[in-house]
Amino acid sequence: MPLMLQGIGVPGSIAIGPVRHGRPLQVVVERLLAPGAVNAEVARYRRALANAQRQLRKVRGQVPRRTPADVRSFIDSHLLMLRDPALSDAVADRIREFRCNAEWALRMQRDALLAVFDSLDDAYLRTRSDEVVHAVDRVIALLAGEEDSEVPVDGTIHVAAALGPADVLRLHQRGAAGFITESGGPLSHAAIIARSLRMPAIVGVRDARALVRAGDIAILDGDNGLVLVTPDRAATEHYRKRMRIGERRRVALRTLRHLPARTRDGITVTMLANIEQPADLRAAREGGADGVGMYRTEMLFLDRDPPDEAEQYALYAKAVDGMRGGTVTIRTLDLGADKAVPGRAVTENPALGLRGIRFSLREPGWLLPQLRAILRAAARGPVEVMLPMVTNPAELVAFRASLDQARAELAARGVRYADPVAVGAMVEVPAAALTAAQLARSADFLSIGTNDLIQYTLAVDRDNDEVDYLYDPLHPAVLKLLAGILRAGNRAGVPVSLCGEMAGDPRFTRLLLGLGLTRFSMHPSHLLEVKEAVRAADTTTARRTALRMVAARDAQRAAVLLNELNGA
Ligand code: PEP
Ligand code: MG
Repeated sequence: MPLMLQGIGVPGSIAIGPVRHGRPLQVVVERLLAPGAVNAEVARYRRALANAQRQLRKVRGQVPRRTPADVRSFIDSHLLMLRDPALSDAVADRIREFRCNAEWALRMQRDALLAVFDSLDDAYLRTRSDEVVHAVDRVIALLAGEEDSEVPVDGTIHVAAALGPADVLRLHQRGAAGFITESGGPLSHAAIIARSLRMPAIVGVRDARALVRAGDIAILDGDNGLVLVTPDRAATEHYRKRMRIGERRRVALRTLRHLPARTRDGITVTMLANIEQPADLRAAREGGADGVGMYRTEMLFLDRDPPDEAEQYALYAKAVDGMRGGTVTIRTLDLGADKAVPGRAVTENPALGLRGIRFSLREPGWLLPQLRAILRAAARGPVEVMLPMVTNPAELVAFRASLDQARAELAARGVRYADPVAVGAMVEVPAAALTAAQLARSADFLSIGTNDLIQYTLAVDRDNDEVDYLYDPLHPAVLKLLAGILRAGNRAGVPVSLCGEMAGDPRFTRLLLGLGLTRFSMHPSHLLEVKEAVRAADTTTARRTALRMVAARDAQRAAVLLNELNGA
């Protein structure tokens, strides 16, 4: 008899497969050690701890950039927890003091830490005690020799009480068809990351582990938040058909790869990819990218000592070679705010602090090696450099002086480098947007970072779930700024691209074309969908509606106009 369970789904996703249950709660065996075995037990514990950190670092390096920063910081806080002496040293001390096995010592220490969390008045901090539990569980699993990667998960639907973002990433990397969790709402970390990965998932399914048996066939219907357990033939056929339709659409999109991104009225659009590492270039090429519109270099710097010039050069050179003649726009370090500078304390209000180009200009020891590496990579193919968080032309002037210094240093060493390299400013704060015409005089190109521009214009933290209902790209204030930047760029004859998430969302393609944008830079996975929207658009009609949207009373009215424009 088929069973139907309700939860909250990842829209647009369907999975069918056999169910696999997540690891049951760890049963910790308590053992006392022989006196001579203590040092070996401490060493065994330290190895497991190091392995747990390695696993998490690997997972962290693979978090897709589109994922909200709090998912990354969640993994960071696990890493910090594993490094914290309150866990690492304290457990070793307990092994020595009580002569007990590592698992037992870990559990004692976990309980002691949880008691501290429980006594806190701050409700938010109290909820963070989950992180202690996750971190300890990971080490206990490794001590038990249970290396997750040995368990085949390919094509299965994983059922668990709860999953952390690292668990979701690992399931995805290892080919799981989808997952079901008992806890979690639409804004839980598991749901957020599943959406970013487009991984089929239903969260918040009460008693799922009791109701769905291992080995059962289950269907996940992400649009409706449904789990169908042991479905009948008709239901299976229905969902298989929907999956086939989805697959056909993906194949159809692939045929667009070599077709021009040209609107119906003949406007040619440049399609660019946002990348974070050279490995992303393959996806960029598969999406038919004309070049890289933004290489987010700060990803190389997170969670480690800064890479030196040679290491950076090797990576940038790979990107330039991989783009096979397409321009690679390298963005200098954008540390600060949600991407804390490794080894430095996070200041209060970091989004308004020393971030992006402000940090780089303050720290030549970080900036100059990066500039030398970029200039050297530019000798291999077309490269541009772009600065994050610009607020005034003086930053561009200071930056160009640093670029001259980097050139002089390379010349003194007799190393090959390219000269000149175009220098662009990102427009991601209202001050830059409102003075785009002035910036355009000092910059060779402009690139609009809507992710930050929206947050700074609307005073809405882009990573704060509590105010995300206000984070609206269609707010007329945002649209007015976008229209102004594009107008200023066009008047000055300076190319303007847009590299925030808006560029990769086909719902906004016509609007952006209507505002005058012809250079779109996005996550590679969106290139073909957006190209499809470009090819269906007519910029004359789009311009008329875009102007009405800029003048709209509010975002709701603008949304109605956008629906009309998109023919919805
Ligand atoms: C942006 O702010 O839109 C942008 C592209 O930069 P990031 O998302 O890296 O802050
Ligand atoms: Mg930004």
